[in-house]
Amino acid sequence: MPFSKLGLLEVMQRVVEAADYREPTPIQQQTIPLILEGMDLIAQAQTGTGKTAAFALPLLQRLHAIETSPPPCAPRVLVLAPTRELAQQVAETFNEFGKHMPRRIGVATVIGGAEISEQLRDLEEGVDIVVATPGRLLELVREKDLFFYELLCLVIDEADRLLALGFAEELEQVFEALPAERQSLLFSATYPKKVVKLTEQVMRNPSYINV
Ligand code: AMP
Repeated sequence: MPFSKLGLLEVMQRVVEAADYREPTPIQQQTIPLILEGMDLIAQAQTGTGKTAAFALPLLQRLHAIETSPPPCAPRVLVLAPTRELAQQVAETFNEFGKHMPRRIGVATVIGGAEISEQLRDLEEGVDIVVATPGRLLELVREKDLFFYELLCLVIDEADRLLALGFAEELEQVFEALPAERQSLLFSATYPKKVVKLTEQVMRNPSYINV
């Protein structure tokens, strides 16, 4: 099945070609059309299945569709990740894909253990996407350095690991800072009770995908 069948426009075909992806992976086949429609989604998928591109490609297309006189005044996509390494990988994917888009796509990585002043500078320049670990993100939200009034989509990546690392309370506080009217996507390798509870907290009529 070609990527074009999933609803990805010409502008995204260039991104896919530059990444040398010939065919969408099973999770991409299932998630991309639903994410483009703005649906809430729970996807049970392991690392290595192509899950990052499964949300990055359709979300970039949605950002592309929004006319902004740059720079954007508040992020439109927030990705929450359990570890700095994963956050950096996800941000890198967005940056790599974003290079092939017609307009600049600003990405900020908000993680602990890195210079907060650098992260603030990135945010001040205006970004479309924030990829964050919960602790540092909350710091910025509490200090009123970061607002989400324009948020289009929340992505919770590796939800089971986020909860296993004890981030439940931080997550709850992050959700309080987000507009209720938004799309929510949750990716998790496993689907224990804790994750089910989290999905009930954040999602509206989600579709469930298991690959
Ligand atoms: P992930 O599951 O997001 O960690 O992705 C695992 C690896 O698969 C990454 O190196 C991606 O660049 C690669 N990948 C993602 N989608 C595709 C695709 N459709 N075809 C080939 N490789 C892909």
